[in-house]
Amino acid sequence: MNFLDFYHMPLYRPPSEGDNVIVQATLGCSFNRCTFCSMYKGKSYVERPLAEVCADIDRLAAAFPGARRVFLADGDALALPAGHLLALIDHLRERFPRLARVSSYALPANLLRKSAGELESLRAAGLSLLYYGIETGSPELLRRIVKGATPRGMAAGLEKAAAAGMKVSATVILGLGGRRHWERHVDATLELVNRVPLTYLSTLQLVYCFTPGGVFRAPQGGQGKAQSAGNGEPLARTATQHWPPWGAPFGRAAGRPSAALRSLERDLPFLRERALHLTDQRLAESVARSEAIH
Ligand code: SF4
Repeated sequence: MNFLDFYHMPLYRPPSEGDNVIVQATLGCSFNRCTFCSMYKGKSYVERPLAEVCADIDRLAAAFPGARRVFLADGDALALPAGHLLALIDHLRERFPRLARVSSYALPANLLRKSAGELESLRAAGLSLLYYGIETGSPELLRRIVKGATPRGMAAGLEKAAAAGMKVSATVILGLGGRRHWERHVDATLELVNRVPLTYLSTLQLVYCFTPGGVFRAPQGGQGKAQSAGNGEPLARTATQHWPPWGAPFGRAAGRPSAALRSLERDLPFLRERALHLTDQRLAESVARSEAIH
């Protein structure tokens, strides 16, 4: 199977889906306006016909008959109508008899649009993990990056997903506030991630790569260079130092103490020091890359 011919490129998936089967239920991103994201800027959004996707599933099942996990690409399979998704997941279950988990990215707006009943049906069918970009908890920064979401809307969508029994793996972006807004970014993001029901939380580091400053700079009021240099400021350090005592990077668990969490609490001083050390290393590399770009 030649994957370069099989898939509509470019193809993205979360790092944790690297060993899993990827099915392109949609192409591109149904929103495609976030200023920090260049993933699908050259790709139009398409909801692929069910028959076409099922034909892909048949070929993938022939190549990977024992697969247990499937990721639905591209940017937001959750934009598809619930009936379409349910039919697609049914076909996955038929073709992959050992299937244990289906996952996809979820945009805040599309998660909100699904009813509680639809989310429960999708969860029961097997869609049990959503990857979700919080990016920042600051309403002002969410507006500046054109995320198409507010903290209140994100909280409502995430609560619906949790009520349906879905796991959520969320990301926030270090460096998004730059030097000017970094405190607002860190404070509001910590407040939001401690309030909403997340299963996993990871951080991404803002880096200019494909379009050095071009797309991101304008909505930031022309402070692109400051934003980039801001990656070298203590944003990640501050966030790491403010981890709640039960260890937010491993998933939210406030009010749910367990043996595992007590163990995390015991280990956290070591984990925090290790994370700070790694963070300093990565920030130094990021500043060096940033200076090379500018
Ligand atoms: S919703 Fe996600 S994939 Fe779409 S533009 Fe924003 S960050 Fe990129």
